[in-house]
Amino acid sequence: MSVPSPVLFIGHGSPMNALPGGAMASSWAAIGGSVARPKAVLVVSAHWETDGVAVTAMQSPRTIHDFRGFPQALFDMRYPAAGSPALAARVQSLLAPTPVRADLDWGLDHGTWSVLAHMFPEADIPVVQLSLDRRLDLPAHAALARRLAPLRDEGVLIIGSGDAVHNLRRFDPSLPSGGFDWAVRFNEHIKDRVSAGDLDALIAYRSHPDAALAAPDFEHYAPLVYAAALRRPGDRVEVLTDEIQYGSISMTSFAFRS
Ligand code: ZN
Repeated sequence: MSVPSPVLFIGHGSPMNALPGGAMASSWAAIGGSVARPKAVLVVSAHWETDGVAVTAMQSPRTIHDFRGFPQALFDMRYPAAGSPALAARVQSLLAPTPVRADLDWGLDHGTWSVLAHMFPEADIPVVQLSLDRRLDLPAHAALARRLAPLRDEGVLIIGSGDAVHNLRRFDPSLPSGGFDWAVRFNEHIKDRVSAGDLDALIAYRSHPDAALAAPDFEHYAPLVYAAALRRPGDRVEVLTDEIQYGSISMTSFAFRS
């Protein structure tokens, strides 16, 4: 029997990380090199929220430059990976009876391509995105995530892409590397609970005293819960990258591997 695919959570941070030679370039390349080549990648990105669940089902997803005020070089980047209508259909069947819309308009947003451009620079592995249904609470997101578990035995690499700490209102450009005290405390709490396999605490993150400052943006936190919910008993947890940028953005990433 083949080894199940790992599940990853990647803290993607600023779109600037997508640029060659960016702060995360070598780390993300190393993460890509640490996993067996998947048949396809399924990403739950903070940057695709919908009413109801959707999955990208087009043959050739476009590269979405869903940001403003960044250098032209970022807008010139493309990540021309193929889509996978077959994987989209598989996701629909796994998530049933929850209806999942086959989307032909979205594509790959920067939560996905900024990371994959370094992990799999050849862009030769099909990529599908699963949206975040903004109407659901975290227990419901975790329940959806668990239904995707069979994909780990089908050669699909599942990635949650967000940021465990994400507060753009407190973003401090004078702090390219370093975190505010509350950001560090919350990030340490998340690492501790992820390592302990404490999904209940990860779902109840708002009870942490620093959560209002550190994780005010639900959509950036939720992808972490998708990854953690897919952890299997016996999986080991690895902290892949662990850094806070600009005071309030955590680049901390995890792998769950059998
Ligand atoms: Zn983001």
